[in-house]
Amino acid sequence: MTALPESLLAELRVLLGAQHVIDGGEALEGLSKDFFWYSPVLQRQLNDKRADLAVRPGSIDELRAVIKACFRLGVPIVPRGAGTGNYGQCVPLYGGVVVDFARLDRIHSVDGGVVRAEAGARLGAIETVARAAGWELRCIPSTWVKSTIGGFFCGGSGGIGSITWGGINAGDNVKSVTLMTCEEEPRLIRLEERDSIRALHTYGTTGFMVEVEMRLAPKADYEQLILSSSDWDRLLDWSDGAARNDGWHKRLVTQFEWPIPSYFKPLAKHLKTGEHVSFLLVARDQADAVVASAAAAGLACVYRQPLSDPPRPPFITDYTWNHTTLWALKTDPSITYLQSGFGTNFREQFAELHRRFPGEILFHLEWMAGGIKFVAGGAGGSSGGGSHVVVGGIPLVFFKSEERLQEIIRVCGEIGVGIANPHTFFLEEGGRHPNIAEKRALKAEVDPAGLLNPGKMKSFPHNPFEPATLR
Ligand SMILES: Cc1cc2nc3c(=O)[nH]c(=O)nc-3n(C[C@H](O)[C@H](O)[C@H](O)COP(=O)(O)OP(=O)(O)OC[C@H]3O[C@@H](n4cnc5c(N)ncnc54)[C@H](O)[C@@H]3O)c2cc1C
Repeated sequence: MTALPESLLAELRVLLGAQHVIDGGEALEGLSKDFFWYSPVLQRQLNDKRADLAVRPGSIDELRAVIKACFRLGVPIVPRGAGTGNYGQCVPLYGGVVVDFARLDRIHSVDGGVVRAEAGARLGAIETVARAAGWELRCIPSTWVKSTIGGFFCGGSGGIGSITWGGINAGDNVKSVTLMTCEEEPRLIRLEERDSIRALHTYGTTGFMVEVEMRLAPKADYEQLILSSSDWDRLLDWSDGAARNDGWHKRLVTQFEWPIPSYFKPLAKHLKTGEHVSFLLVARDQADAVVASAAAAGLACVYRQPLSDPPRPPFITDYTWNHTTLWALKTDPSITYLQSGFGTNFREQFAELHRRFPGEILFHLEWMAGGIKFVAGGAGGSSGGGSHVVVGGIPLVFFKSEERLQEIIRVCGEIGVGIANPHTFFLEEGGRHPNIAEKRALKAEVDPAGLLNPGKMKSFPHNPFEPATLR
């Protein structure tokens, strides 16, 4: 931990007002954490990490003043959205100041199919405003109600909508990002179009993202469907075909192996014991055709509910992507997870993993467009077309030991299953970053003193708070 200069607390109180400076108690504890506890490895490494202070600037000028004060004193600073990240992205490794973006949440405009918003704006609020104007977000995490657009860009990768639009970093999804540097005199830097990729999924190490522009899709009305079968392969064949059917407009295709559905307690009355299920969001005017196709394939439609507009629960998305792991953990705290990308031989890969690790892995599959990986970083991909669809997933793992987890990851590598390791807080170890040199160069430009979320970008040569005692 750094020893925080005593004068900083008083200075920040004057700058922001005492009510926007949190210096202790449960509130500070909460603002020092995210959902890293999904991982038993990160739980061990991060559970005792705390910020010394948290602040909530209410304007860009206040943010600039906070950065100047921390820079002058050489204090670590960690940006924070809603704190729903899974890899300890916004957990301060060396204490210091957490900057909570909760008050920097203005949605400036939805214009010409582009939303322009402050980074702290919640995706749920943006989706509601966009829909009222005839648009919808192209891709959102399953935490979309709560999480912020800045946190999604800096810590997330994709989710609902990725079946059509790929991940955040795909195609032209991101129009621009504006960063504030961490310097004696903080500057604003605007990165446009594909250049903005340098700042995506960098865990708040490459500047404070203050404003973003994201392209939208024309809105559609959706039907929420759950299809059920006791035959995994029958369901898999149909779901894979549905995911690749460009004629059906979709926002979600997800499949769960039994007993994962048994973890979804609120859905218990709809789900059949022992049956695997697929969750879909499809255009409402195509839902009859989709259900008829499923019935012809021998699948039962056990749940059908329109998605309301403006969005109001129930949302089947609450069970998909990394929400699945949360439901599983509520039932069995020994469960953990992996994030995987399967090959075109995914059926053989599933069989091989079941053979090598019997009873240890449960499959949760998510289909997405364009070869999009779980991390940003130049993976590219398609936009607006679902013809090139890949099978990814967030399989559940019954945790035995860290060594066993590493063995599963190693075997996945051997058989060609790509893993974005969720059991590390190092950016570079969490997934593929083919443009890491560009990200490092951006950090050197915007954070020359290495104060921004120190320790997360492992390959950045300058960490003033080393030696780390984290491993
Ligand atoms: C139940 C559950 C389900 C999830 N499902 C998905 C999913 O479907 N897809 C997915 O991609 N992720 C998913 N996640 C992870 C996470 O919810 C998303 O990535 C989410 O978008 C993060 O947003 P946040 O506002 O909570 O960010 P935070 O967790 O607060 O921050 C994430 C990272 O971004 C940095 N950051 C935040 N704001 C800024 C800023 N303004 N400037 C610079 N850096 C900043 C932080 O320092 C941190 O490193 C899930 C997590 C949980 C717990």
